[in-house]
Amino acid sequence: MNWLKKGLFLFCLLGLLASFAGCSQNEVKSTEPIGKAYFNWFDTVSYVYSYAGDPAERFEELSAGISGILTEYHRLFDIYHEYSGINNLCTVNRLAGGEPVPVDPKLIEFLRYAEELYGQTDGEMNILLGSVLKIWHDHRTQATEDPAAASLPEQETLLEAARHLDFSLLEIDEEKGTIRLTDPDAAIDVGALGKGYATEKAAQYLEEQGAGGYVLNIGGNIRIIGHKPDGGGWRTAVKDPEDPEGSYAAILDIADTACVTSGNYERFFAVKGKQYHHIIDPDTLWPAEQFASVTIITRDSGLADALSTALFCMSYEDGLALAQQFGGVEVLWIEHDGTLRYTDGMEALLTN
Ligand code: AMP
Ligand code: MG
Repeated sequence: MNWLKKGLFLFCLLGLLASFAGCSQNEVKSTEPIGKAYFNWFDTVSYVYSYAGDPAERFEELSAGISGILTEYHRLFDIYHEYSGINNLCTVNRLAGGEPVPVDPKLIEFLRYAEELYGQTDGEMNILLGSVLKIWHDHRTQATEDPAAASLPEQETLLEAARHLDFSLLEIDEEKGTIRLTDPDAAIDVGALGKGYATEKAAQYLEEQGAGGYVLNIGGNIRIIGHKPDGGGWRTAVKDPEDPEGSYAAILDIADTACVTSGNYERFFAVKGKQYHHIIDPDTLWPAEQFASVTIITRDSGLADALSTALFCMSYEDGLALAQQFGGVEVLWIEHDGTLRYTDGMEALLTN
């Protein structure tokens, strides 16, 4: 298997498959894609593909630009490691309750956006959920290392952590360029938004460079820049939550947009035969149970990422109302029994 085939295979495993130019009998003329795989962003595998028929040097130049952007955001958003020469979210969490921390203006811009989304989603997507997420993360890690010792958090422990979730605990001083968590027990976790936000910055860079016919798959978050050279879209598959490694629940035909899924099969652990996944409902402090997965299609990959998590934690009715409020947001909900529910605009994108 050459590297490109390997990339496509892994792409399938990640759950969202773009079926690329050259696959369809109906293609009048197709340009062979060129692409690259990356393993160093957001602890996951990412791919950059061009269908533009660009000369190799142009692809190299643009993929180097994307790489620079994603590497920078990966470092700024990392809550597990610090890097020399920058203060990142790991630094901010470590210094919670202490002095204000000078940070890159990019981090301030991101945190302001996260604050806006916290309000718009009625707190369902909350990057200040870190203290609660850490508890679930520790239990998941322990269960992975020693499944026989798998255990659930105590409700009391979760309730104590939930006293440190309010966005007002994050002080942002734009003028001084500093941020500070005022509560030593508060913590930031941007798992729900960071990858999509950084992907959007990379997409904006490509647009500024006049690039089209590019597909970014950043750890399963898809952002398509422009159309195929023939003006068409890409067939993009949404995993079947019941058989995430083997089959697809839907195939969408999309171009010039983002496609992000939050699913209960992505990261989980089991206790007494029941699975506990990684998306935590801020209202219950337990894994959200409304859906098996929620897929968002909207042009801005950051918004798609935020809404995939938020709508995963909401009822169908509340999620639909929120999507309509934003406008230009299409949703595919997959229920536990496999039933698909979708917005009208999503229906138009379904190919099966
Ligand atoms: P996603 O796969 O985009 O839905 O993001 C899930 C990740 O976001 C989890 O692994 C946590 O790090 C974090 N997270 C889980 N639940 C929430 C929530 N309700 N609000 C914000 N972040 C969350
Ligand atoms: Mg998300």
